Amino acid sequence: MPIKPKSALIVVDLQNDFLPPSGSLAVQGGREIIQPITDLLVSEDWDAIVATRDFHPKDHFSFASNWDQAPFSSKQFTHPLQVIDPNTQKVGTKTQILWPDHCVQETEGSELTDTFANGFYEMMAKEKKISSSSSSSSNSGIRDTIPMVVEVKKGYLVDREYYSAFEDTWGLHHTELHNFLTKRGIVNIYLVGLAYDFCVLNTAISGTKLNYNTVVIKDLSRSVYPDKLEETDAVYRENGIQIITCEDLKKN
Ligand SMILES: [Zn+2]
Repeated sequence: MPIKPKSALIVVDLQNDFLPPSGSLAVQGGREIIQPITDLLVSEDWDAIVATRDFHPKDHFSFASNWDQAPFSSKQFTHPLQVIDPNTQKVGTKTQILWPDHCVQETEGSELTDTFANGFYEMMAKEKKISSSSSSSSNSGIRDTIPMVVEVKKGYLVDREYYSAFEDTWGLHHTELHNFLTKRGIVNIYLVGLAYDFCVLNTAISGTKLNYNTVVIKDLSRSVYPDKLEETDAVYRENGIQIITCEDLKKN
């Protein structure tokens, strides 16, 4: 099952803070997926490659430290714009998990992990070189005008959580991701990275809602709660997201 035409690879949050042994919100087994994901950048003929980054201000609402609560406890948040929920006639609320401080802007924890970053930024630099040398030619198609390799940051608005790389959990603020994929003519998205049960999952769900054929490469992702893997798989399937493995990509 080689990738279909018009496919994008989306590498979710492969950042130092999500990686053992020293990441502040380390996802178990996260290091095992770095090299195979780096290899995947060049082993398939992608029409677009995206690396997402969680990128929080230090007083972000999702940090337990800002509420004097324990990490991994929950808190009820109210709608950032105080919008009334028609079902309850009260300001909408959402109960979400509070996390250890992580991926704070301009810290090493927010950087893409070295091995992957080297491969990813090298591709980005190579592409810039190619597009600047070909910009004078008459053959100026999409590849000359819209970059193929981009980084998308999320989580920078202080008063709301972002799991999806497309939007915050309230669906109010949209990142540039959908616009970029649309301009590149992308139809299929393949997701890898961290974590399988949060940001990869929610990016995939947004993807299907936006009508992308959405595929998750399960063995190139790891969960915060690996003991709930079956439940997480079920959520992917309920949302029409295809679950595959790396090996499936190599089959004809
Ligand atoms: Zn975060």
